[in-house]
Parts: sequence; C-alpha cells; structure tokens
Amino acid sequence: MFITLEGPEGSGKSSQLPALAEFLRSRGYTVLTTREPGGTPIGDQVRQVLTRMENQGMSPRAETLLFCAARAQLVDQVIRPALARGEVVISDRYADSTLAYQGYGHGNDLAVLRQMLHFATGGLWPELTLLLDVDSAAGLERRRSSGGEWNRLDDYALSFHQRVRQGYLDLARSQPERWVVVDASQPMDAVQQALRQVILRRLEP
Ligand code: C5P
Repeated sequence: MFITLEGPEGSGKSSQLPALAEFLRSRGYTVLTTREPGGTPIGDQVRQVLTRMENQGMSPRAETLLFCAARAQLVDQVIRPALARGEVVISDRYADSTLAYQGYGHGNDLAVLRQMLHFATGGLWPELTLLLDVDSAAGLERRRSSGGEWNRLDDYALSFHQRVRQGYLDLARSQPERWVVVDASQPMDAVQQALRQVILRRLEP
C-alpha cells in the first residue's frame, strides 16, 4: 500500500514518520519510507539545486519541473519496486505537494500541473494521504525554532504558506476517500496515535 504524508511547514511530518514506520514494522509489515524532494542519489542532487539560497532567481516553472524530475526518479527507482514487492511505502511528501506549493502557492495552473504529475509519476497516486494540518503562522514558528537549516524553499512570505495550507484543505475536501486530515497542533504523541489509527484502519479493515 502506498501512503503519503502531506502538510505545510512545521506540521511535523518528518518527525512523525520514523515512529510510525517502527510501529507498523512491530505489527509485521515491511515498511519503506522515502522523502521528497530526494530519496534517490539523482533526486538528492535535484534537492540541492532546489534548496540552495543562491538559486533565489528560480522561475516557478523551473521549480515545478525539478520537483517532478526528482519524483519521477523516486517512483521508478524506489516506490514502484517496493510496491511490487508488497511493501508498505510511506512517503514524506509526494505529488500533492506540487499541487499545494507550485499550484495554490505559486499560482501555476492546476490542470496543467495534474498533467505534468501524471507524466512524472506514470499515474501512480497514493491510496491514503494523511494531511497534518497546522495554522501557517504557528507552523512557520515551529519550523524556525526547530533550528533546522534554512533554505530557499523556506523563504516565502506568510501569505504564500497560507495559500498552501488552504490548497491542502481544498484537495482534502475534493477527495475525501483518499485524504484524512489530522490536527497537527496537538501534542506530538496525540498526532502519532491519530496517524497510527488511520493507517491501521486501512491496512486491517
Ligand atoms: O518536507 P520539507 O519541509 O523537508 O520540504 C522541503 C521544502 O520544500 C519545504 O520548504 C517545502 O516548503 C518545499 N516544497 C516546495 N514544493 C514542493 C515540496 C516541498 O516548495 N512541491
């Protein structure tokens, strides 16, 4: 089963993923986790181009294509083979990030983006997407105080991040059979419990 975690800055996806994977392994599942952009040697090189502060002049279309390039590599090299082996794949970000950030955030046409995503992923969409939803200002504050390295992609205004959040909520509303929204403003433990419950309900209905 292919599962994705999505969410705005500071939503805690990346902190939740290792414990989530461990929990599923303890229940006997073989779990593969990936993160975007990156997750392959080629994708990691693309990530560097995307994140470097000196690449401030990058056009939103170039940015979109680079995200799609990294994703295409990840799908072919990592995700599809793992799914073919029957593993549970959980990706920290996937194609919906492009709709939220490059679409709702930067204003690229959503219909065009969907076509590009279809090309980049070969039509592979997750069966379950968990949206870790958090207020944009609170999320940015969490991100700043986490002390992680600041990069070009973090450097957008609050209004950009608010559009991204609203975009995610729109996407979740439009496909309720695939998306589950989790309140990521709760304490970490509560968020972890909520994620586990949702995933188990899908894996062991
Ligand atoms: O998930 P993480 O916070 O590590 O994401 C890396 C960066 O890439 C974030 O700053 C996020 O805002 C940005 N991003 C983006 N467009 C995407 C995916 C991620 O701008 N499609």
